[in-house]
Order: sequence, then structure tokens, then C-alpha cells
Amino acid sequence: MKTTASKKLFEAAQRLIPGGVNSPVRAFKAVGTIPHFITRAKGARIYDADGNAFIDYVMSWGPMIMGHAQGSVIKAIARAAVRGTSYGAPTALEVTLAQLIVEAIPSMERVRLVSSGTEAVMSAIRLARAYTGRNTILKFEGCYHGHADSLLVKAGSGVATLGIPDSPGVPPDLAQHTLTASFNDVGGVERILEAHRGKLACVIVEPVAGNMGVVPPHGAFLERLRDLTRHYGIVLIFDEVITGFRLGYGGAQLRYGVIPDLTCLGKIIGGGLPVGAYGGPHHIMKLIAPEGPVYQAGTLSGNPLAVTAGIETLKLLKKPGVYRQLEERGRLLSEGLLEAARELGVGVTLNRVGSMMTLFFTPGPVTDYASAKKSDTLAFARFFRAMLEEGIYLPPSQFEAAFLSAAHTSADIAKTVRAARSAFKKLKG
Ligand SMILES: *Cc1c(COP(=O)(O)O)cnc(C)c1O
Repeated sequence: MKTTASKKLFEAAQRLIPGGVNSPVRAFKAVGTIPHFITRAKGARIYDADGNAFIDYVMSWGPMIMGHAQGSVIKAIARAAVRGTSYGAPTALEVTLAQLIVEAIPSMERVRLVSSGTEAVMSAIRLARAYTGRNTILKFEGCYHGHADSLLVKAGSGVATLGIPDSPGVPPDLAQHTLTASFNDVGGVERILEAHRGKLACVIVEPVAGNMGVVPPHGAFLERLRDLTRHYGIVLIFDEVITGFRLGYGGAQLRYGVIPDLTCLGKIIGGGLPVGAYGGPHHIMKLIAPEGPVYQAGTLSGNPLAVTAGIETLKLLKKPGVYRQLEERGRLLSEGLLEAARELGVGVTLNRVGSMMTLFFTPGPVTDYASAKKSDTLAFARFFRAMLEEGIYLPPSQFEAAFLSAAHTSADIAKTVRAARSAFKKLKG
């Protein structure tokens, strides 16, 4: 595979941009190679500066659920662009997107649009703290909620340990307000909530974890979180930045039938442009300025191009059969990959919910961050590079979700499974 142009661009980028990228995982560090610089994408295909084509399973990390450069989305963006790209004043488009979101997501009566998932989560946490008058928050080890200071914390030494920042620059004074528990561990959560009775503002969770690789909630995990938070008067926040409009039009909350207090959205609702959103019942959302005292603002919030891309994407997702097809293709791919791994004697675990999945290089099962961490990341890196050679673009980390789109065909999946068979062979050889 030719990589001359990407190499050159990466060298130039590294002289100008920290690590040569504007978001860390893009640098391909974990898979021991250099990033491909992308020039265009269409449907399920992505093309690099050297003219290589790949079947894409990153899909911009989730937003491109209808495929890249989807015809009606692009047309709508173009039509919107000629009317001006930002006004800093309200538009009918924002009302339309808010309406679509409120109709779709059970927990959302009111919704505020922002420009990223990070902003959505950060604002929801501020709101939960204001609403409860408490400071402490509980998150789950291995769950990612954007890069806001309070959330760059994973595990202390035990579930009840106070947070230690994951990143220099996060004041320990702030991180100490973040507690962590193990995903799927109801007993652990219960102990923390009891020990910190009257102190916790919120519990935030990805209802299906996607940022330690895909880890589904087991048994009644989400229901128990709902019961416990209600019992202790704690705000339950579902971070559905990935799962919203991915696991069904009503997100994970409708799929699992568990309704949180606040919900955060992002990724898909911007159709590939920057949009985030948070929302919940009116009695909580009314605290947000200018209706209430909790300040939160944004120069480009509700941007007309971004909102247009979101509206168009949601309209496409609303059409009958879209999620059924995504589920079907997801099943086809996961079965194909597992069969190939079994044939060649490679010990893997495949976790999938709908059109998001992760192939963990561990015999498993993978139910939380600790078990995800048992994966052989070197084997994954070799598999990743072999797949790339075969024209398959996977997320460049063992701990990320692969995403299917409505543009992935069964032929694409068959090609991916063939590529995986030969990649597994290389691993064994
Ligand atoms: C991507 C992601 C975020 C952050 O969204 P950005 O738009 O990258 O700021 C937050 N939560 C989850 C679950 C995510 O996957």
C-alpha cells in the first residue's frame, strides 16, 4: 500500500500541531503505524491522500450513520450555506431539531443545543449539581464523557476511592469530587451511594459503554441504577452521545426501557457537523439560563448548517427499516468475524449491540474495564494493520467501537470477513 503522501503530510502536521492531529486517537499510536490523511469519503468508503480506498468502520466515530456524504444531507447543507452560515440569533431550524429530539427521546421534555458532546456532558453535570445543591459525581471506570476536567478521571485504587485525575492540568481539588465505580457492578454502586449519602449530585453512565470497546449493560444494571438514584435523590444522566439514534430512534433508553433524568446527545444529531445536546424534564431544565440561573452559552450553538445536517439525518433515520437493516448487517458482520476467528483458532470476544461492536483479543467475557484491559493489544495492533492492508479501516484502538452505517452493504461485509480471515492467518503465522 502506498503511503508516501500521508507520511509527508504527517511530518508537516507534526511540526505544526501537537502530535500532528487534532484529537489523540487519530494519530494511530496504539496500532504502531502512521495515520492516513483523508481526502474524501462517500457511503461506506473513505479515501486517503495516496489514493487508497477503505471500507470505513470508524464513520467519524459514530456520526455518519447514514453513510458519508449522503445525498440529501449534503444537498440540505448546501442549500442552508447560501443563506448564511451563522447568525447568533434563533432560527426555525433549531425548533425543528429540538422537536425531533424531544419526540424521539423519552426523557427529554426540553433540550438545549450545544456544539459538542463534551459541552453537553459538562453542562448536564453543572445542571445536576445546581439542581441537587451537591458537588460529588459518580462515573464508571472506562466510560468516556468528553474531556471536561471533572470527567477526566477513571479509577482510584478501589471503587470507593476518591478520584485521581487522569491528566495533568486537572486540579486534584476538582477531581476529588469524581467517584468511580465498575461498569455492571450494582453492588459497588450501592456501597458508594450509601457511603456518600446526601453528597452525590449525579450518576453518569454510557448505557451501553462504547469507549472501553463495546460493553453492554448486564441483566438489570440500568434498572438498578435507576432505582438506586431515585432512592437517594440523585440525578441519573445517560450519556447517549454514541447510543442516541444509534441503538434505535429512541436511543438506549427506549431500547432498554430505562428512563434517566438527563440525557446527553452528540455525534449522530449533527449528521457529521458539530452538534451536541442535553435535556430532561422541564422542572430540571428550567434552571438553565435565561429561564433560570445556571449559565451555559455558545456563540455557534444551534448553528444553522450543523442543525440542518442533524435534521436531515434524523429524517432519514425515521424511515421504516433503517434500524432493522443496521441490526441485520451488524449480526452478519459479527457472525462472520467470529466464525473466521474460530476457524483459525484465534481467541476473541465479540461484543455487539445493534450496529456498534468491538472484537476484543481476549477469550473474555468482557463486562467492564478490567476485563476489557485483559485484551492482547499487540495482537489487536497486528490485526488492525493487516486489515488496513486489506482495505478495511477499523478504529485504531482495541478500546473503541466499530460502527456500521446504512451504506454498508452485505458485499462490504463479506469483503471485511474475507479480509479478517487472512488477517487472523497472519496473526497465527
Ligand atoms: C464522543 C463522546 C463524547 C464527547 O463528544 P465530543 O463531541 O467528542 O466532545 C462524550 N460522551 C461519549 C459517550 C462519547 O462517545
